[in-house]
Amino acid sequence: MTTGALPQSVRLSKSRVMTGLQCHKLLWWMVHEPAAPELELDGRVSAVMDRGSRVGELARTYVPGGLLIDLPYDAYSERLTATEEALRTGCPVIYEAAVRADNVFVSVDILERRGSRYSLVEVKSTTSVKDHHFLDVAIQTHVLRRSGLDVTRMEVMYLNRECAYPDLSNLFVRQDVTESVEGLLAKISGEIVAQATMLAGGLPSIAVGDHCSVPYECPFVERCWPELPPHHVSTLYAMRRRALELDEQGYRTIHDLPEDVPLGPIADRQRRAVREGRLIVEPTLARA
Ligand code: SF4
Repeated sequence: MTTGALPQSVRLSKSRVMTGLQCHKLLWWMVHEPAAPELELDGRVSAVMDRGSRVGELARTYVPGGLLIDLPYDAYSERLTATEEALRTGCPVIYEAAVRADNVFVSVDILERRGSRYSLVEVKSTTSVKDHHFLDVAIQTHVLRRSGLDVTRMEVMYLNRECAYPDLSNLFVRQDVTESVEGLLAKISGEIVAQATMLAGGLPSIAVGDHCSVPYECPFVERCWPELPPHHVSTLYAMRRRALELDEQGYRTIHDLPEDVPLGPIADRQRRAVREGRLIVEPTLARA
């Protein structure tokens, strides 16, 4: 199927495509059951989003002289129109540039004009570039190029762990990720078609696996994972990824896990506590 055959009934966005890259079933539920209790924002997620917004605002001051597309989040048409106008008038830098192509809406943190070409900068509140950041930038690059913009350089701008107050001149690092992103573009193109097609149908059948916690913990774990016995290995601290593997090896519960199966320090303390049926307090507990 070509991109021209995209089902138009459901609109996608960068975050939806990212969600679909983790799991089609998760995306289907997010689109078709937006009021699901599992999708209510908890305080931790809100805090992460607030931190991301603050870092985004700060990053703009390090790439000065731009125009902010400062419109309400859900004013999609207005944001698209304002961005078109900024592009038409040759604005050198646009913050939160809104673009839609192939039925996918993206908002680019910083879009810099370089003659007739453009650089795309994605701001992250992390201290390094993570694997999923490349996909994030690839989705934006795909949409910008499909809308006719000649994007030739892609960067991730993240927090510099070497920066020390009060000298904040090096607060951010700008890393060129062009080569890595170019290698992902073919995948993105096909994935957008696959997601749009999937969303036009019924709930897809997807087996549980590592993707249930990578890159993010899926909120629908309770729906998908089979009913588990008390102290199932998946209840071990930060071990959901390995839980399936351990389960397949016959280690159903924490009681079944022998001492020689290596665990992280917190999960190991949890194993001892469950096996001995008591609370274990150690000096490292406060840091857990
Ligand atoms: S729990 Fe796993 S399989 Fe189920 S929706 Fe989430 S990621 Fe997909």
